[in-house]
Amino acid sequence: MSDNTSSSRREFLLTAAGGGLGLSGLAAVGAADTPTVGSKAHIVVPQRQVPVLAEADVLVCGGGTAGISAAYCAARHGAKVVLVERWPSLGGMATGALVNIWHTSDRTKQVIFGFVQEAIDRGGKFVRRLPSYPTAYETHDFDCEGMKVVFDRMLRDAGVRVFCDLKAIESIVEGNRIRGVLVDTKTGRKALLGRIVIDATGDGDVAANAGLPFDYGRLEDGRVQGMTMMFDLRGAVPSGGNQAPREAARRVLQTMRELRDRGQFPQFNDRHAQHYLASGSNGLYNLCPASGSALDEEELTRLSADARAHVYQYLDLWRKELPHFAQAEIVQMGHGIGIRESRRVRGIKTLDTQMVISAAKQPDAIGHGFWMIDIHDPTGTGYTTHSDHKPGMWLKPGESYHIPLGICLNRQIPNLAVVGRCASTTHEGLASVRLQSHCMVMGQGVGTCAAMALASGIDLAQVDVGKLQATLRKDGVYLEEVAV
Ligand SMILES: Cc1cc2nc3c(=O)[nH]c(=O)nc-3n(C[C@H](O)[C@H](O)[C@H](O)COP(=O)(O)OP(=O)(O)OC[C@H]3O[C@@H](n4cnc5c(N)ncnc54)[C@H](O)[C@@H]3O)c2cc1C
Repeated sequence: MSDNTSSSRREFLLTAAGGGLGLSGLAAVGAADTPTVGSKAHIVVPQRQVPVLAEADVLVCGGGTAGISAAYCAARHGAKVVLVERWPSLGGMATGALVNIWHTSDRTKQVIFGFVQEAIDRGGKFVRRLPSYPTAYETHDFDCEGMKVVFDRMLRDAGVRVFCDLKAIESIVEGNRIRGVLVDTKTGRKALLGRIVIDATGDGDVAANAGLPFDYGRLEDGRVQGMTMMFDLRGAVPSGGNQAPREAARRVLQTMRELRDRGQFPQFNDRHAQHYLASGSNGLYNLCPASGSALDEEELTRLSADARAHVYQYLDLWRKELPHFAQAEIVQMGHGIGIRESRRVRGIKTLDTQMVISAAKQPDAIGHGFWMIDIHDPTGTGYTTHSDHKPGMWLKPGESYHIPLGICLNRQIPNLAVVGRCASTTHEGLASVRLQSHCMVMGQGVGTCAAMALASGIDLAQVDVGKLQATLRKDGVYLEEVAV
């Protein structure tokens, strides 16, 4: 019988690194007798038998756009797939943080199809093609709640077994191979096993736990890109061609700047504020910035809570000072603060500025990317390199770079891959490839590669890249100018 029931009282070894805390020795840890210890203290968890909750050919950890794409595409090619997601629904930043725009065009033609196009088609009434298609990068927007339903249906139809509300907390590694992950269920700790494991957690949790090296933040100070609390505002009156609301917006914006500079008003994205306030925009606002660690839960708790309060500070001022916002209301905010950057797990290749800006073509291409080096100020001012069209950061219209398979694979653990924003990039390279459509390209490439590897009894990096590319093309992926 397993010993993982919550009622079983167990002995833990409680120690304090660095000495001086006087807590080493055996202590029974329970609610009443948990001692207050310094941050260097740790406990040694005794050996225990952990039941296996599920076994798969491909275990995908993380149900954001990258993980969904990987799971769906692996299953389509015959793999038995399990996906585990820590939030209650699928979509990651796309749905949970209210990030609802997809980019599929190089500004002259659509160059991302494959799984992304399938999600657009399956999205039906929840996805809209934008009028500027295909002359702007942004080509579609979607309803976040509706896409939770669509993603769930897509995975169910593909036969993927999905577990939400479970977080991969530890990686099970034997020698140089990963066996699966541990999760904490309501009924105790359990294991999810996979012959191939795909880390799509955005934070690279599984890869880091498995011991793969990673980078974090920009070179000069280790800070990651700024975060944003997205919110949905309704009840504003669009200003149209009217000058009065635009004048009022200019005055209020100036007040916001002065108050902010005196420390009496929260930070805000200045460029976006100009647009939203002048136009009387209804819908999702990308306006409320924050900065901090993506890996510190206590800090994230505070950042999300503070950001929610900041949004109401904006609203109070606008309702008071702007007649066209007098009836405005906040109808939804992100489930948590939106995170753009976290661990970047080192892979066989690393995507950098040069590869993006020179529209570099690769022999191991799995799809195209085109987004600029779009960095939100890591100190949380709301400034972005996107807004000021900084030279040397954009590709020309009609240009795109290749997203290589090598940024998802590594040399140390051959049956572990990463997809999405935790792939192998520099801080600047990630600022381009973090786009959801680009993350889904990675998911499709790696999910398909995983199924092919399993079918041939080989490792991911041993899959014939030409055959993988042929399969991807058959599945609708746009793949041109592949370097040899
Ligand atoms: C405010 C904001 C605006 C943006 N604007 C755009 C935009 O307009 N268009 C665009 O394309 N992109 C935009 N981006 C970027 C884009 O949304 C993300 O880079 C992209 O969604 C990342 O996808 P992902 O699947 O790699 O990661 P995520 O979407 O973060 O998914 C990771 C998933 O893994 C889960 N998870 C994490 N840890 C664990 C664990 N240990 N165990 C199990 N599950 C776990 C998470 O809950 C999450 O669901 C924006 C990002 C932000 C924050």
